[in-house]
Amino acid sequence: MSTFQELGLNEDLLHAITDLGFIAPSEVQQKAIPVLLEEERDLVALAQTGTGKTAAFGFPMLQKIDINSRTTQGLILSPTRELCLQITNELKLYGKYCKGLNVVAIYGGASVTEQAKQIKKGAQIVVATPGRMKDMISRKLVDISKIQYSVLDEADEMLNMGFYEDITDILAHTPMDKSTWLFSATMPKEVASIAKKFMYDPIEITVGNINESTNQVSHEYYLVNGRDRYLALKRLADANPDIFSVVFCRTKRDTQRVAEKLIEDGYNAGALHGDLSQNQRDLVMKSFRNKQIQMLVATDVAARGIDVDDITHVINYQLPDEIETYTHRSGRTGRAGKTGVSMVIVAKSEVRKIKSIERIIKKQFEKKDIPSGMEICEVQLMSLANKVHNTEINHEIDPFLDSINELFEDTDKNELIKKFFSVEFTRFFNYYKDSKDLTVSDSGESKTREQSADEVRYFINVGRKDGYDWMSLKDFLKAVLELGRDDVFKVDVKDSFSFFNTEKELQEKVLNFFTDFKYNGRFVNVEVTENKGRSGRRDRKRSKKGRNDKPRSERRSRRSEGSSKRRSGDARKNRHSVSDRPRRSRRK
Ligand code: AMP
Repeated sequence: MSTFQELGLNEDLLHAITDLGFIAPSEVQQKAIPVLLEEERDLVALAQTGTGKTAAFGFPMLQKIDINSRTTQGLILSPTRELCLQITNELKLYGKYCKGLNVVAIYGGASVTEQAKQIKKGAQIVVATPGRMKDMISRKLVDISKIQYSVLDEADEMLNMGFYEDITDILAHTPMDKSTWLFSATMPKEVASIAKKFMYDPIEITVGNINESTNQVSHEYYLVNGRDRYLALKRLADANPDIFSVVFCRTKRDTQRVAEKLIEDGYNAGALHGDLSQNQRDLVMKSFRNKQIQMLVATDVAARGIDVDDITHVINYQLPDEIETYTHRSGRTGRAGKTGVSMVIVAKSEVRKIKSIERIIKKQFEKKDIPSGMEICEVQLMSLANKVHNTEINHEIDPFLDSINELFEDTDKNELIKKFFSVEFTRFFNYYKDSKDLTVSDSGESKTREQSADEVRYFINVGRKDGYDWMSLKDFLKAVLELGRDDVFKVDVKDSFSFFNTEKELQEKVLNFFTDFKYNGRFVNVEVTENKGRSGRRDRKRSKKGRNDKPRSERRSRRSEGSSKRRSGDARKNRHSVSDRPRRSRRK
């Protein structure tokens, strides 16, 4: 692996790279930077966002332009305002020691006069969205007749968004002998035709395989009745208490509707689509970055600019019209070395699309069942138990301990634990106690899941945070327990813990093995759980007893999933109120 020095970058850029904390060049940087520095060549790079492609074209451009000149020498076209600003900011960071550098962003929805003023000061690099750029060219507010380098970033998206004509018009105002560097996540024929039309003998580089989704992302699909789509979405969110996700809808209307319903139902959700004003979009993105929003419901176009590294889940509430768009969606998760899950909620009529996507991403989907109500209750309970276990004691409580102890004088430890956890559990239980099975079988019927009496379901205290997905956890368990291919099944990985099943005859072996088992210096704890992972019936009955423990302080009863009565919209006004879902605490 080469270093940034070995790529041939100058001292100013290396200095900035040290400040940024970049240790080694990424794959796209290693492949692109040396060629772009050494030669005046066109380039086609197949690379997704998150691979470091901005620096791959940014460093060579910054090194090659003449900073002492005020002429515009570099033009970068990108599909959205968000991306445009993001690239501008990155370039400013990379060029912070290049004295006299002026990078200007040009995009719609902001003052043309102000942008023209910035350009007039002498911008060596202009980063622009195609629509506003074309507008400013026609008003002679920007001169790109002397540029030496042009970049088409996220070319496939720009074409998806209908910018073909704008791009060709803009390029017609640039010199013939400039170098053009095209970056795209996918290579549909429209992009290939742009490359053919505007580029001469380009060097081609590929990071990962064309159209292939990153290895960090696992793909799952859930077959439901179309009318249960929204309930399924809520269950997926509830089954993943620490979810931080983008939920994709096909239209602006659906995006707004789903976000509104989620907010009404007490989720930390927000909508992002083109009908919102720029100000509203900025506010939503700010809340998302701060993690005040856990579920960002977005259209494909609006989500283009999302540059957030730790998204845990992408949920395809509806599949995109163009299946190639799936790669963009799923690429929002599994970034910066983290793992992620891309979930698709599909109705029977769309299942064949899954097969087409598999061919494009060259990866298999796992068909999963929508978690049952009791599975969700269990996940929520174990998540809370883990949080309590890992919580640092706040000694500000100490002065009140005597009074609390007095109150619980006659309560033994077991009872106290039960009461404590009932606070949260009862809310989820009441909500889900009469919930139906949402998964439908391949034949389209609602599926009544078979529960084998010979299966055992286990809880294990490792999860996604430890770098596992269902496949790697299954492999790990099979390896350490020396089990066969199908001995471990129904593996369900959550953030800090997971579940899996084996046949009952393996129970002793599994539990014996995990007594005192340490991995990476940490005890791995495995316990048998009551839930079988596929049906709630037995547990439901057992847990009903627990309802008598319902703490008096429970805030408000809410309707069950099965009820059709809609609540009034007051929950939206008071986002801290409990609405018709079992709320989890808000994230900070
Ligand atoms: P991009 O693919 O250009 O959107 O980059 C994704 C993120 O990776 C940005 O936040 C960059 O600042 C960061 N980045 C780019 N190159 C490197 C590198 N070599 N090492 C670490 N982070 C990087």
